[in-house]
Amino acid sequence: MNDLIATNRWGTFFGVSQKTLDTVWNNLTDPSGNSVVYISMEIGADRDVYHPIKKKLQDSDIDKTASNLLRHYAKLFLNGPEKIPNYSGGLGILAGDTLKSFADLKIPTLAISLLYRKGYFSQLVDSRLGQISTATDWSPENTPSLYLLKNPDFPDLPLEIEVPFFDDNDNEVLAIARLWMKMEVNEHLDFFVPEILLDYNIPSSPEWIRQVSQRLYDSISDQAKAVQRRLLGASVIPIQKAMGITANIFHLNEQHGVVVVLNMIGEWLSKHVGNDYHTKATDADILKAADAVAKHIVFTIHTPVKAGHDRFDKSIISGIGHAFCNRVLHLLAQDDENPNQYNFTALAMKVNRSTNSVSRLHKAVTQKQFPQFSKKITAITNGVHHLTWISEAKAAFYDSFSELKNWRDDPAVFSKAGLLFNSESFREAFELAWKQDTKILIDYINQMLSLHRKQMHETWIDPPNFLSNLDDGIQELSPDVYTIGFARRFSTYKRADLIFDDIDKLADIVISNNYPVNFIYAGKAHPSDEPGKSIIKLVLDIQEELYRKTNGMAKLVFIPGYDMKIAKMMVAGVHAWLNSPKRPLEASGTSGMKSAMNGIPNISTMDGWWVEGYHDGKTGWKFGYESDIDTACLSEAPSSLLYEQDSNSFYDIFPQILKSFYDAKSRSLYIDKCIHNLELNCPIFNTHRMAAEYVARYELKVPKAVQNRLEKLRKIYQSEN
Ligand SMILES: *Cc1c(COP(=O)(O)O)cnc(C)c1O
Repeated sequence: MNDLIATNRWGTFFGVSQKTLDTVWNNLTDPSGNSVVYISMEIGADRDVYHPIKKKLQDSDIDKTASNLLRHYAKLFLNGPEKIPNYSGGLGILAGDTLKSFADLKIPTLAISLLYRKGYFSQLVDSRLGQISTATDWSPENTPSLYLLKNPDFPDLPLEIEVPFFDDNDNEVLAIARLWMKMEVNEHLDFFVPEILLDYNIPSSPEWIRQVSQRLYDSISDQAKAVQRRLLGASVIPIQKAMGITANIFHLNEQHGVVVVLNMIGEWLSKHVGNDYHTKATDADILKAADAVAKHIVFTIHTPVKAGHDRFDKSIISGIGHAFCNRVLHLLAQDDENPNQYNFTALAMKVNRSTNSVSRLHKAVTQKQFPQFSKKITAITNGVHHLTWISEAKAAFYDSFSELKNWRDDPAVFSKAGLLFNSESFREAFELAWKQDTKILIDYINQMLSLHRKQMHETWIDPPNFLSNLDDGIQELSPDVYTIGFARRFSTYKRADLIFDDIDKLADIVISNNYPVNFIYAGKAHPSDEPGKSIIKLVLDIQEELYRKTNGMAKLVFIPGYDMKIAKMMVAGVHAWLNSPKRPLEASGTSGMKSAMNGIPNISTMDGWWVEGYHDGKTGWKFGYESDIDTACLSEAPSSLLYEQDSNSFYDIFPQILKSFYDAKSRSLYIDKCIHNLELNCPIFNTHRMAAEYVARYELKVPKAVQNRLEKLRKIYQSEN
């Protein structure tokens, strides 16, 4: 226990030994530069879904000789707040899952993101108003595993970095940030990935900087968006210099942090052209610098949807960046469609050694969108961190079969689930674990419904669920009823309301087959995404009609405040996971992988990862129009979202899905699909395998033992095929 405290010049940290801290820091500051800086606008890694340090504390007693400091930390880690609301959805959670796998696999990495004192937003839902957003107040000060780094020269003061901004006349204004470090500690507590979260909301920063740095994806204005991007990207070199980080590879998780490329070009020019490069450098020099910088950049693009690609008016950029920036952007970030804008995606696309899309299908789509870069666009299919997303009940179930031994360290072990395919005891144990997970989810929902019912008269919020208006008892959901889950960001192309397009048809399927169904929905829409919010409202509005038309056999529930904890409960507790985006707009999607980790089949359109995870129907069901990518329409316009066609395709397969769950004779076919998910999907769609593929792109030199482990993971699956 006493080896859980470690100290270095940046502070005192809990949860790892001195040796581990020193190893991690030596790697990151080694002159060889064999490490990675991972840059992401958001990182989602809440502690209430994965917390190895807390687990260790719960498993062992604090001995009597422990110091007061150790006791203080132990208490904080056992009882402290566990939410770190630094994410909005898939992109951030992928970042968190990636860094957790990097820590497990001991890949030397420093992550950089911003710290948002008001989080993203907290979602309230009112049946009449739909989504209401409020600020998320949280305090990093007492959040376990977040540390304010010290200034080594003045240990009583925090470390600060300066990020320069320039007005239209190139007058410099400094944004100042303090550095919080969050530690992504691995399962064995013998390695970690530090994440530097920048807090610009401090007195020494200008007020306008403080304002725009508080909320993730603040879209109050385009200017605010551009400033946030700069606060991220332009911090990278100052952090490196302040902390002595020698990394040679910079991974851009989406283009948000691409300003780092401009800074690196500046650094190169100052070295090769001289300190007066602002006036001396020729266009050819700039292009040469870009070529040199490109060798250090790995870029992941996450969406074909245009709203995900940053473009800024030139006037905005000239009001925050140096005039020289404009020259570089003029050469490297022209937007072909809008001559008055710079296209940051174009810049990230141009200046890198490797552009990665997030699934095989997405690779084809990205190549179509950016034909000029077609050759260098590759695929690394996303994954999820299996240790985070496998429920407690499922983990205990996996632990109890020796064939799956070592699944925690090596998710490839799941391919051996095939050996157990015909084992009755395996199947029964699976169903038992599943029942526990379903009970947890349904109990949560029933408690929520009755709580909302009680609150009805106490608050001004009208309960989001129609069922809260019914008497206790009638309103309750049953865990024996077939339960379908749908939860993700509410965005038009994801078509959350698709299967309710023709309620009469859906109701008829339920009634005529006499199969009851629970539909469990959750998700947030960005506060300024009006169409997204209107789909939440639509889902709420459908509840009563669906209930009445099915005589109460179909219940549709919306869980407000979607976060990682609710996600984990849902992906493990439902009987099927529904995914209905319009192909090919979902680049990957990850929530379906989380359910696959728990052995739960997907019902999905052939989009994103599901093209790879479907295995000819062995692991779930497909529906919807399978557009050809060459002629596919990438528009989100309502008229091109194929509601009628794709909902009908769902209604075609739905009766057979219900039957295979309820009908005793076909029930074993349903369990077949579950086990096939373990066997075929768990070994592939995890972030360990994904990390191994990325490290190959980085061409990072790592110790032999690490290298061997990565090679083994890479052998299982190559996304590039
Ligand atoms: C996994 C997850 C997402 C992303 O889901 P997709 O299927 O990739 O859209 C979003 N929000 C939360 C809270 C999640 O856990």
